[in-house]
Amino acid sequence: MSRVLRDSYGRVADDLRISVTDRCNFRCIYCMPAEGLRWLARDDILSFEEIHRLARIFVQRYGVRTIRLTGGEPLVRVRIEELVAMIHRLDPDLDITMTTNGVLLRQKARLLKEAGLKRVNVSLDTLHLDRFRDIARRDAFARTMDGIEAAAEAGLWPIKLNMVVMKGVNDDEVVDFARLARERGFEVRFIEFMPLDGDHIWSNDLVVPSRRIQEQIEDQFPLVPVPSRRPGPSVNYRFADGASGGIGFISSVSQAFCTTCNRIRLTAEGGLRTCLFSLRETPLRDLLRSGASDDDLARVIERAVWLKEEGHLINQEGFVRPAKSMSQIGG
Ligand code: SAM
Ligand code: SF4
Repeated sequence: MSRVLRDSYGRVADDLRISVTDRCNFRCIYCMPAEGLRWLARDDILSFEEIHRLARIFVQRYGVRTIRLTGGEPLVRVRIEELVAMIHRLDPDLDITMTTNGVLLRQKARLLKEAGLKRVNVSLDTLHLDRFRDIARRDAFARTMDGIEAAAEAGLWPIKLNMVVMKGVNDDEVVDFARLARERGFEVRFIEFMPLDGDHIWSNDLVVPSRRIQEQIEDQFPLVPVPSRRPGPSVNYRFADGASGGIGFISSVSQAFCTTCNRIRLTAEGGLRTCLFSLRETPLRDLLRSGASDDDLARVIERAVWLKEEGHLINQEGFVRPAKSMSQIGG
């Protein structure tokens, strides 16, 4: 490794999120419209070889240690386990994880584990079958829960459960999720609803601030902070009584973590984004396909990261939503 990817505010980008597809088999109300979005054409999406080449540059030149595969739904990309294996071969110690809705995990968990995936984050917003149908707009509660079991059986552990909390939709379930964390040893992460939904229904009134969620949980289950080893968006807690599992809060709206943000993102069509809320993207695909050398690509990547924005402006004057929604960026 020769250097790190530093931005002009001194932050080091060492956590890369790679979106492998913009397509999805769910239509979560906080993410995608019911009718879906216009999918990218197959040829516009990076091939596994192209993703692997970029991953190699990030890992070997810049010491990126964490690669998270996401989407859209990463498990709808055919033979995704082959990409996991390709990235794993770059460095067996690399922390390769995946964020998934879990519905295809029963078919894929063991293959992913064998390919070198370390862990999964599974999105789960409710423990009620009917409500699941309303939120994901798919009748897939049982299969998702079974997918979580399959991941645990395959040793993709610890499992993180991502819950997007929306006022009046599922905020009455946060204590139930804390109980589930304790009973099963899951790490539950409560995520504030962000203005990146395809239906443009976001409003601050629908956001449940993390501190409110924490108060509700601590009424029943007191929490103790877990000091974080690396900068990251999640503020983590364990249960004071020593129960297994844990709780995390991702407070993108109420307490933005931009000053320590170490993330960068690659979209399915090869755009490098330095923030979820970036209004610009650095396209790498055409460069990749035009015969650019690794040095050429590296120069463009370094410049893009150097220009990473100071932070997003949600709830402040001047905030402009990006044109892309969450599934098109890669959450
Ligand atoms: N399809 C996979 C899944 O749902 O886990 C991966 C992609 S999804 C876009 C990544 C994460 O973004 C999920 O945990 C999802 O809950 C979260 N997410 C999507 N839209 C969001 C929003 N508007 N605000 C906050 N989180 C959101
Ligand atoms: Fe699909 Fe994930 Fe978006 Fe839900 S959050 S619609 S599962 S990409």
